[in-house]
Amino acid sequence: MRKWRVWSIIGVALIFLLAGPLHPADRPYVILISLDGFRWDYLQRGLTPNLERLQREGVSALSLEPVFPTKTFPNHLAIITGMYPENHGIIFNRFRDPFSGRSYSLGDTSAVRDPRWYWGEAFWETAERQGVICASYFWPGSEMRPAYRSPTYFEHYEHNRPYEVRVEGVLKWLQLPEAQRPHFITLYFDAVDSKAHRYGTQSAETDSAIVRVDRMVGRLLDGIAELQLLDQVNVIVVSDHGMLDIHPERVIYLDRILGDTPCEFQQRGPVMMVQPKPGYREEALRKLRAAGRNFRVFTREAVPDYWHFSNHPFISDIVVVAEPGWLLQISGEQVRGKATHGWDNHTISMHGIFVAMGPSFKKGFKTGTLRNIDIYPLLCKILDVKPRQNIDGRLERIEFILR
Ligand code: AMP
Ligand code: ZN
Ligand code: ZN
Repeated sequence: MRKWRVWSIIGVALIFLLAGPLHPADRPYVILISLDGFRWDYLQRGLTPNLERLQREGVSALSLEPVFPTKTFPNHLAIITGMYPENHGIIFNRFRDPFSGRSYSLGDTSAVRDPRWYWGEAFWETAERQGVICASYFWPGSEMRPAYRSPTYFEHYEHNRPYEVRVEGVLKWLQLPEAQRPHFITLYFDAVDSKAHRYGTQSAETDSAIVRVDRMVGRLLDGIAELQLLDQVNVIVVSDHGMLDIHPERVIYLDRILGDTPCEFQQRGPVMMVQPKPGYREEALRKLRAAGRNFRVFTREAVPDYWHFSNHPFISDIVVVAEPGWLLQISGEQVRGKATHGWDNHTISMHGIFVAMGPSFKKGFKTGTLRNIDIYPLLCKILDVKPRQNIDGRLERIEFILR
């Protein structure tokens, strides 16, 4: 009788074990690397042996479609929350709350750590609530207070921190005792974006930055191999957006077009938000539409559906978007740099990369364009975390890349 009982308890426990959630010892690891501004076609320059290894031994997409506007912070938050900027809150790298007068800026340490701007839930927050330890060696939104909104381990952003030190930091986390070891780690490198802004997409400087970040991926893979963790660690390499060369003669001065119609302007470059003073909306729209060459004019309610750029209360009444390669400016302000990004997210030059390798991914699998908002549900699937239900990303659009 007693024996029978013991066996039935063991049997039931076994059924639960087999059908239930991933056993902690079986949960893989994920390292999510962002190579800022790494355009989809840079992988075809023959400069990236390590990323090519990832493509060969794992999954690679033709491109990764960013969200609009194709800027760094809106896209890193879209990747990590699975939400469009109108829902996760970070609509630009810098923007103003017209109700309180406060401003958010990627360079403002206190704003960047202030949770009031972030309306989405980052993957690390979802995961840690479910007992999965996370770490971040830089990611927009990772330094937030209170502590439960940030990963257990994170570093405060330091633009000039040597890349080798960052890789070493990630490898150190992977060497922690299992009970303290993070299962999800982010890593970030800016060089490809920074050099292309300054020298253009075809420059030798951009090429060396591509080589440099590819070497960091190689260094990380070597480190993981040395730790004998290659069969447990998934490495996902993405970029937030692409890049396009600009020309000093392709500049549109919106203040000249609007003349004496009183308006406030936010943003410069590929996108500009125009807020006419009360009573001047129609006049501003009329003038902009009459002049409309090389740019498009929308009321915030009527931007293209696929931008999902209407609902956020800080978006101005009028959104102007230049044609790719063209810039919106205010007279007297200087146009800097040789290349930029921010345009329509359906423009192929704004697309980034997605390559991934590891135990959870198919091998030598090539696919078409993936969307960056689908990465959050993908991470949830890989790490056996229950996703938030209010997200924009869809697992169905991406899970076929998994084994
Ligand atoms: P963008 O203006 O869209 O090209 O933004 C790229 C810049 O964002 C990089 O050159 C970095 O200086 C900055 N950046 C990236 N990640 C962070 C971060 N976590 N905190 C602060 N700044 C960042
Ligand atoms: Zn960027
Ligand atoms: Zn940039």
